[in-house]
Amino acid sequence: MVRTAVKAILFDLDETLILEKPVALRALERTGRRANDVAGVHAPELRDRVLDRAGELWRSTPAIDYCRRVGISSWEGLWCEFAGENEDLVWLREWAPTYRFEAWSQALNDMGVDDERLAQTLADDFVETRKGLFEYFPETIAILDELKGAFRLVLATNGASDLQRLKLETSGLAGYFDDVLVSGDVGFAKPHPHFFENALRLANTAPEQTLMVGDNLRKDVAGAQEAGIRGIWVNRRDREPGEIQPFAEIGNLLELRNFL
Ligand SMILES: [Mg+2]
Repeated sequence: MVRTAVKAILFDLDETLILEKPVALRALERTGRRANDVAGVHAPELRDRVLDRAGELWRSTPAIDYCRRVGISSWEGLWCEFAGENEDLVWLREWAPTYRFEAWSQALNDMGVDDERLAQTLADDFVETRKGLFEYFPETIAILDELKGAFRLVLATNGASDLQRLKLETSGLAGYFDDVLVSGDVGFAKPHPHFFENALRLANTAPEQTLMVGDNLRKDVAGAQEAGIRGIWVNRRDREPGEIQPFAEIGNLLELRNFL
């Protein structure tokens, strides 16, 4: 088979280049230590309670369909600014302070602490704590250093536009990318074909000249492959692929070299 030379690489962000949920959990626990100091609450348990309560509140919002479509998680909602003018974002922006307070307040209540001031302090603290934390995978910078300049690099991520761009800036990865596509900007998320059409337009390449690299088999790999883009599955935890057949599977981003 003659393989067309790769000209552009699309990268997923969360759990592909940077750690997202583990860092969110760390920020929740760090915030919870304040509750430990003030009210003797066990921080790891408070972290779990907040996640549960936030999830419940999140699923009850009228904007849940939008959040699912674009890909905004309940724990991202605890620090997202929801910038933008569509009606769901406007609604979420107005609701966010209540959501954050309620998540922390209910979690404290679950642990026998009734302290509204503390709940508000924790809700505010978490936003700042989470903004200040990031972690990329050990090989992220090495591979991006290698690829930058040699290929057109497009970050192709699901989520709220302001939040994903903030993660990129904070982690220092923004400068590696020629362009950035966030599902929140276009209203379609991976695996939707419109998302990948937009990504190809930004990459300025044909599908067969393009790779998509991501940790999510359905959203990153199957979505890309539906659009004719070769999907490379980042499988760090040795999971089974099931019915979706990725073009290739890697356990580490450095293995990308084998497919360029
Ligand atoms: Mg991901």
